[in-house]
Amino acid sequence: MTTQTVQAKVLEPLIYELSSSGRKADTLLPKLDVPQAEPLPDHLLRDSLDLPEVSELDVVRHFVRLSQLNYAIDKGFYPLGSCTMKYNPKIDEDTARLPGFAQLHPLQAPETAQGALALMYTLQKWLSEISGFAGCSLQPAAGAQGEYAGILMIRAYHLERGDTKRTKILVPDSAHGTNPATSAMAGYTVVNLPSDERGDVDLAALRAAADETVAGMMITVPSTLGVFDENIKEIIKIVHDCGGLMYMDGANMNAMLGVVKPGELGFDVMHYNLHKTFSTPHGGGGPGSGPVAVNEKLLPFLPGPIVAIVEESSFEDGAPLYGFVMPEKSIGRLKAFHGNFGMHVRAYTYIALHGAEGLKAISRHAVLNANYVRVRLADTYTVPYNRMCGHEFVLEGRFEGVPDIHALDISKRLMDYGIHPPTNYFPLIVPEALLIEPTESESKETLDRFIAAMHAIAQEARETPDLLHSAPHTMPVSRVDEVYAAKNLMLCCQVPSAE
Ligand SMILES: *Cc1c(COP(=O)(O)O)cnc(C)c1O
Repeated sequence: MTTQTVQAKVLEPLIYELSSSGRKADTLLPKLDVPQAEPLPDHLLRDSLDLPEVSELDVVRHFVRLSQLNYAIDKGFYPLGSCTMKYNPKIDEDTARLPGFAQLHPLQAPETAQGALALMYTLQKWLSEISGFAGCSLQPAAGAQGEYAGILMIRAYHLERGDTKRTKILVPDSAHGTNPATSAMAGYTVVNLPSDERGDVDLAALRAAADETVAGMMITVPSTLGVFDENIKEIIKIVHDCGGLMYMDGANMNAMLGVVKPGELGFDVMHYNLHKTFSTPHGGGGPGSGPVAVNEKLLPFLPGPIVAIVEESSFEDGAPLYGFVMPEKSIGRLKAFHGNFGMHVRAYTYIALHGAEGLKAISRHAVLNANYVRVRLADTYTVPYNRMCGHEFVLEGRFEGVPDIHALDISKRLMDYGIHPPTNYFPLIVPEALLIEPTESESKETLDRFIAAMHAIAQEARETPDLLHSAPHTMPVSRVDEVYAAKNLMLCCQVPSAE
């Protein structure tokens, strides 16, 4: 690896700077296939519209260059903890683009969209089956929205019984940040539970907090420390005994598929992240899909509409008629129309092609890969909860005797090795946290390359720390002030002129 050399960066001109008056591409427009309309009246036309005048080649180079500046899972290793940046099979994209799915109109009569409804119905069933629950709604448009739906269901459940004294949700300090945020948004007081020295929920603290004012508990499984709580059954019992319900954040189900069913453990409600576990490309801000699954208790409260069979053997071939129904005491709608349907198609394809055995293999490989990397890095880095992990683990991005090296320096330097940084400074309970999730789709060779890079960086930290402080050296832009950059977005593709 020639990562020590600082590459000279030749900044290519942007598309506006390439503009030259009168230059254009030859355009061959397709034949008109709609009735010709009258041209727009003059007062609606602008002559001040400043568009770049460029050739076809300029346009092609501009966009291909931009696409290559982007980092993506299709380009390299992406161990961003808690985000499950795994490979998304291209066949999922093909099925989502089938015209019968992609060109459906959301207002189309259900009778004319039976294939799509059958797919949603089956996906509801499969997700319920995978986690051992009684029913599922595909409405929520993100993991966090699934959480919100879950907590609203818990609230509706208590209020329906006239139980108005429950004002608290218990949240361990190893939970995903969205868990306390969700509880607070739903109007609950968040009670923070500490972790013990093994990274499990502190049972004494839980027992002390579990009283008749507790509506429920939200727990991320595996936790953001990457570990599966060894006392999970005891935790569920304590909360149930005080009348609360149990919410499982199942965004990272790729650690548990075919191995553990949360419903059978005693959870009342959970959400999935289809865009993590069940393959929709994500990371750029959407779309998302966070279905919620529930046990019998919460079934009537599911957000809707959900897909149900409205008439058995409705067709000549015996096929049922599917339709949308609102669960009896539904918390209501969370999303326009029927959720992010394209993601339902991807998840359906992904589950159908893997089958039960394939899903189990996903989790085995996710867990194996994370543990392999954990054990290989524990000789060089401090791994605070160094025990069998799930899909991810956390290490400290700092070294004894090297006081001015931080997690961020290690992350930035990794970019010079062609690797996307892990999640930084999360979970909050580990100092200089680097949360590493290799995912199931990486080969041993890729993991070994990552491990070698992490070992090399640990050595550089001691011998040439400045190399880390000024990293990255090989990227189109070097280290930026992230706070300033986030607050002062430059969304304009035209470089402001000096005048
Ligand atoms: C990603 C994630 C979420 C939030 O999902 P979004 O779709 O980003 O809202 C919640 N919990 C955990 C554990 C996650 O990893």
